[in-house]
Amino acid sequence: MEIIDGKALAKNVRENLKKEVEELKKQGIIPKFAVILVGNDKASQIYVKTKNKASIELGIEYEEILLDETIQMKELLDVIDNLNNREDVTGILLQSPIPKHLDINEAFRRILPRKDVDGFNPVNIGRLCLNQDTFVSCTPYGIMKMFEAYNIDVDGKDAVIIGRSNIVGKPMALSLLNKNATVTICHSRTVNLKEITKRADILVSAIGKKHFVTEDMVKPGAVVIDVGINRTEEGIFGDVDFENVKNKASYITPVPGGVGPMTVAMLMTNVVKSAKLSRDKNSTY
Ligand code: NAD
Repeated sequence: MEIIDGKALAKNVRENLKKEVEELKKQGIIPKFAVILVGNDKASQIYVKTKNKASIELGIEYEEILLDETIQMKELLDVIDNLNNREDVTGILLQSPIPKHLDINEAFRRILPRKDVDGFNPVNIGRLCLNQDTFVSCTPYGIMKMFEAYNIDVDGKDAVIIGRSNIVGKPMALSLLNKNATVTICHSRTVNLKEITKRADILVSAIGKKHFVTEDMVKPGAVVIDVGINRTEEGIFGDVDFENVKNKASYITPVPGGVGPMTVAMLMTNVVKSAKLSRDKNSTY
């Protein structure tokens, strides 16, 4: 069994990006990342801080737009339009969740596809579906990078994903399908979940329930990827019962130190991509 070291891998990705940012700046291309945060959600504030820190470390310019939780949709769309129109801003991210009275889908649709570093605009998701160049949402993108770095071949493998969210489960399924895995998506209505997970060569869990995936659900030799972040008074835990599953798996990601750091590193990769796209002002991307 090998533990996939997401922290080390992410450090490596960031070091390469830092050099790339320096090169871009020499050519007069300055990546600039704008993050919109609506309201006072505590977890969102932590995530935004992490994004700020990662940008500064890489020499990426960073701007935070803090909006009151009472803001109306029209004002939010105006803020997005303004960032879309600004030439200095290359990448835009709307931190979710946003207050319930606002329509997050409309907001994601409004962010220009070529500035959509989270990959949540339906155009970018459509491109992923068609296996075209796109901004892949950062968590699945990071997991695919892990497979690459550890020489884990997904071609022809039986891949099972637990969770069908738009930000993890669905783009994860598409990313694996694009690399020729045979993909099954499981969710809260799935019947006989264990029977399905037990046949998985690659098992990705993105549910948000501490230690939901137990040893009896895992095929011997499976690659187990734990996306879950479950905060408790005892600390942060994944969806996988790591201590008991690890001896059965061929590869496994820990929580913390697995998928999380890679998600941030891939977000930065997408911001650098947005800067490269900004070179072509007439781009229809
Ligand atoms: P979500 O709440 O949107 O989706 C959870 C999914 O789990 C749903 O599709 C639901 O059908 C499924 N599910 C719930 N109970 C189930 C059950 N009993 N059996 C089978 N499926 C079940 O969550 P999300 O946004 O996709 O996030 C999932 C987890 O991943 C959360 O813990 C979140 O914090 C974490 N997360 C981590 C990262 C990272 O960078 N590591 C990024 C995004 C999300």
